[in-house]
Amino acid sequence: AHVLVCGGTGCTSSGSHGVMDGLKSELKKQNLDDEVLVVQTGCHGMCEMGPIVVVYPEGTFYCRVSKDDVPELVEEHLLKGRTVDRLLYTGEGDVHVPHYSEIPFYSKQERVALGNCGYIDADKIEEYIARDGYEALGKVLTSMTPEDVVEEMKTSGLRGRGGGGFPTGLKWSFCAKSPGPKKYVICNADEGDPGAFMDRSILEGDPHSIIEGMMIGAYAMGADEGYIYCRAEYPLAIKRLKRAIDQAEEYGLLGENVLGTDFSFSLHVKEGAGAFVCGEETALMGSIEGRRGMPRPRPPFPAVSGLWGKPTNINNVETWANVPSIIRRGGAWFASMGTEKSKGTKVFALTGKVKHTGLVEVPMGITLREIIFDIGGGILGDKKFKAVQIGGPSGGCLTEEHLDLPVSYEDLAKAGAIMGSGGMVVMDEDNCMVDVAKFFLEFTQRESCGKCVPCREGTKQMLLLLKKICDGEGTMEDLAQLEELAHMVKDMSLCGLGQTAPNPVLTTLRYFRHEYEAHIKDRS
Ligand code: SF4
Repeated sequence: AHVLVCGGTGCTSSGSHGVMDGLKSELKKQNLDDEVLVVQTGCHGMCEMGPIVVVYPEGTFYCRVSKDDVPELVEEHLLKGRTVDRLLYTGEGDVHVPHYSEIPFYSKQERVALGNCGYIDADKIEEYIARDGYEALGKVLTSMTPEDVVEEMKTSGLRGRGGGGFPTGLKWSFCAKSPGPKKYVICNADEGDPGAFMDRSILEGDPHSIIEGMMIGAYAMGADEGYIYCRAEYPLAIKRLKRAIDQAEEYGLLGENVLGTDFSFSLHVKEGAGAFVCGEETALMGSIEGRRGMPRPRPPFPAVSGLWGKPTNINNVETWANVPSIIRRGGAWFASMGTEKSKGTKVFALTGKVKHTGLVEVPMGITLREIIFDIGGGILGDKKFKAVQIGGPSGGCLTEEHLDLPVSYEDLAKAGAIMGSGGMVVMDEDNCMVDVAKFFLEFTQRESCGKCVPCREGTKQMLLLLKKICDGEGTMEDLAQLEELAHMVKDMSLCGLGQTAPNPVLTTLRYFRHEYEAHIKDRS
């Protein structure tokens, strides 16, 4: 038997290390330690039900397991072959559900980027290889030209999962065409949106998929060196990444003459110091170079002049993690999922007032209703759904009328929100939408690097006006000024942070203007 214990940050914080240690000592006590393998995996996604333990070969899914439950689990399940019902997921009508596939949270999901998370021990390269890991790298190095790889990426229709949604194959083709003997590839792992933890879970649960994806990209674009820029607040992710790099080097999969070919690649991890703006690619490169992380105007674009002035390609964690599967299974396979212009799957961090918070990966085109009500189980305490904030502080709030909106880059943009990197915060009838807008604006205002006036001063003035309105001291003139400033900051800021910072204010003004007005009217 195999017992998988979730070692993601969510389950770790709810005590999975204690469960892991307890299992090992209990198995030893029962003389089962040679027969039962205990594996610490990455995130299973259903963080709110952690710590999660899955027992194979049956695939029985246990949730909220504590250290005290371990003796019973070993005695009943592993020795007597009986399921411990009280630790199973409880579905509608108080029915115990023993398997993943039957739990609504998982049944509508399609796991590609998260495909190995929850299945393998991220510290063991052998487990990644056993699930076809590095097969795609072997394929490109032995049977594909760099141009073939770029074409395959174009066929897949994959678009940047960091928020911008730019077609990945096209982006790679720009860097591939840039002349020069020295090029870089970068993985943007500076995930900083409040409520977002998609990238962290992939880094912690399947670091080799990012390494393999970056190497495939490097081969396609003619790069021989890469950086993973990861926020220092993710110590577990950094530890696992560094270990994965060491192991790949030991196996001859990273370094000089990979797999006996002419292709060489070296990879470094650079820890960010916590500035949200360093997620912007020009600021990120400045930070790697040892300068203060501040955006610069583009052009020149990184594909022409990036890190240390060399052609550079930057993609985020989820984008890179999709690459090995696309190469292994074909671009057409990936493009068969999703909508006409938004292909494949997308990972979302589902948080807020929803019953089952956690990490979900869904095919593009699924509706918000399916994500929030079918997968997320609906609103906590069976309260009324009010809004969902998509795309973090750069995104927007959507309402009940958008619940049947297909989740795609185009449809979300039309409604005034953005896909962003995948944060999804659900709000119920008790949430004040003006407060929500203030919360996100406070975040972006604090994180503004101060380089350009519209963002530095504009967000500050917007925040003062919002606070005045929230305190019941605002006027209709203040509201008009807030709206005018929001448009000005959006149109005139230098980088994405400032250009998107007003989005939460603008969407709440568009859909919940009456709440702003109520704050003002309440005063009189
Ligand atoms: Fe800095 Fe804001 Fe200007 Fe971006 S928009 S450069 S974060 S001040």
